[in-house]
Amino acid sequence: MYNKLLLKNGSKIAIIGGGPGGSFFAHFASRYAKEAGIDVSVKIYDKKSFRQRGPCGCNMCAGVISENLFNGLEEEEINIADFCVQRKIEGYCFKTQDESVVLHHPVPGHIPKIVTVFRGNGPLQSEHDGNVSFDDYLLNHVKEQGVEIISEVVKDFELPDRKGDPVKVICGAGNSKSEFEADLVVGAFGVNTGMMEKVGNMGFGYKPPRTVRTCQCEIMLSQEHIEKTFGNNVFVFALGKSELKFASITPKADYVTVNLVGRKDLTRNNLIDFLKHPAVKNLMPEKWEIPDNFCMCISKIPITYAKHPFADRVVVLGDASISRSYKSGIESAFNMAKMSAYTAFKNGVSASSFMNGYFKPAKKLVARDNFYGIMMLKINDYISSNRELANRQVRLVRSAEDTKTASQINEILWNMLTGNVPYKEIFIKAMSLRLISKTLPFSPLSWIRDESRNSSNVK
Ligand SMILES: Cc1cc2nc3c(=O)[nH]c(=O)nc-3n(C[C@H](O)[C@H](O)[C@H](O)COP(=O)(O)OP(=O)(O)OC[C@H]3O[C@@H](n4cnc5c(N)ncnc54)[C@H](O)[C@@H]3O)c2cc1C
Repeated sequence: MYNKLLLKNGSKIAIIGGGPGGSFFAHFASRYAKEAGIDVSVKIYDKKSFRQRGPCGCNMCAGVISENLFNGLEEEEINIADFCVQRKIEGYCFKTQDESVVLHHPVPGHIPKIVTVFRGNGPLQSEHDGNVSFDDYLLNHVKEQGVEIISEVVKDFELPDRKGDPVKVICGAGNSKSEFEADLVVGAFGVNTGMMEKVGNMGFGYKPPRTVRTCQCEIMLSQEHIEKTFGNNVFVFALGKSELKFASITPKADYVTVNLVGRKDLTRNNLIDFLKHPAVKNLMPEKWEIPDNFCMCISKIPITYAKHPFADRVVVLGDASISRSYKSGIESAFNMAKMSAYTAFKNGVSASSFMNGYFKPAKKLVARDNFYGIMMLKINDYISSNRELANRQVRLVRSAEDTKTASQINEILWNMLTGNVPYKEIFIKAMSLRLISKTLPFSPLSWIRDESRNSSNVK
C-alpha cells in the first residue's frame, strides 16, 4: 500500500529554492494537480529576493534563454515579459586571436528565438526603474497559479523513521526555527549552497554533482557601443588560453555579461587577464579601462551529475541533480522539473517511482548525451588551443568557394554554442571524414601513422 505513496487532496509540497528549477516544478505541479482534479498546497522556500540588484539578488549566469526553452515556455503559456528581455539574439560571433566570423542558424532565414535576460534585478550599479528579473518573473507566474512563496531558508529536512510517513522540514535563519511536515520535498537548491552536502550526508544515497567555480562580471557600456560592436550576437572566444574552457560576452541592453568557465576553479585574476586581452579590449570603446567597481561574481557550475537524487517523498532536480554539460542549464531544469512533477502526480512520490519515471529517463536523455558532449568539448579545446587550427576554422566558415564545408562547420559550431540539438547528433556530424580532412591542416591518416610510429619508438 505504501509503495505508491500517491499525492492526494490536501497533500503538501515544499520546494527548496526559488530559482528556475523550483519555479518550473511549481508550475508543472499546479498543472498536473489541476488535471488530476486534486487540491494540493505548493510552497517555494527561498530567502533570496530577486528584486535586488547585484549578486545577492541573482542566480548568477549569462542569462541566455535557449530557443528550445523559449519554445517550451511558450507551449506552457509562459511568455517571457518584454521587460525581462534585454536583447534578442540573432547570431554567435566566434572569435579567435586573429579572426572572427558570425555564425547563423543553420536553416537559412530562420530567426532564432533566443533572448538574454538578467536573473536578478540587473547589475549592482544599474540605474533602471522597476524590476527586470527573470527568476522573479517566474516566481510571480507560479504565484498566480496559487503557489505560495515563503521568504525563508530551509535549514534541514528529516526523513521519517516509518516508511510512508511525511518528511519533516525545518526552516529559519540563526536561532529561529519552524518545523512542518511535507508529503513531498523538492530539492531545487542549485549548487551554490551548503544544502547539497547536507543532503549528501542524509544517507539515502544522494551524492552531489562535482562542480567548478566560474567567474563572471557585468560591464556597463553605452547602448550605441553595444549596438555597433556586438549587435545581437553573443561573442565566444578561442584565445588559446589553456586555463579557459569557455569564454563569452553576452550583450544586454546597456551592459555586456562576461562569462568564463575554466578547467579548474577560476578567480578574479582570470577575469582581469581576459579583459586585458587585445582581442577583448578591441571590442571596448577607445581608451576603455577596466572599471574600479563592477558587478562580479564567482559561481559554481556542475560538471558531473548527481547520484540517487531521490528517496521516498524526496526528489532533487535542476543543477543539484542532472543537467546538460556546460550548456542551457535553465532548459535542463525545465525538462527535469516536468519529468519529476509528472512522475509525482501520475506514479506517486516513492523512491521507485522517481527512479523509473524521472531519474532513469533523465540519465538516458541528458547524462548519456553528456558523454558525447565531453568528447565534442575535448575536440573544441584542442582546436581552440591551437592558434592556426582555430583561425583555419573561421576561414573555412567564411569561405565563399567551399560553401558545403562552410555550412557544415557553421551548423556544428552553432549547435554546440546554442545547445539546440543533442550532443550525440553534433558528434555524428562532426565525425564526417570529409569534414575532418578539410578542417585539419594535415591528413588524418598520415597523422595516425606518425603517432603510431612515434609511440612504437618510445617503447
Ligand atoms: C557562469 C554561468 C553561466 C551560465 N549561463 C547560462 C545561460 O546563459 N543559460 C542557461 O540556461 N543556463 C546558464 N547557466 C546555468 C544556470 O544558471 C543553471 O543551470 C540554473 O540556474 C539552475 O537552476 P536551479 O533552479 O537548479 O538552481 P539555481 O538557479 O542556483 O537556484 C537555486 C535557488 O535555491 C535557493 N536556495 C539554496 N539553498 C536554499 C535553502 N537552504 N533554502 C532555501 N532556498 C535555497 C537559492 O537562493 C537559489 O535561488 C550558467 C551557469 C553559470 C555558472
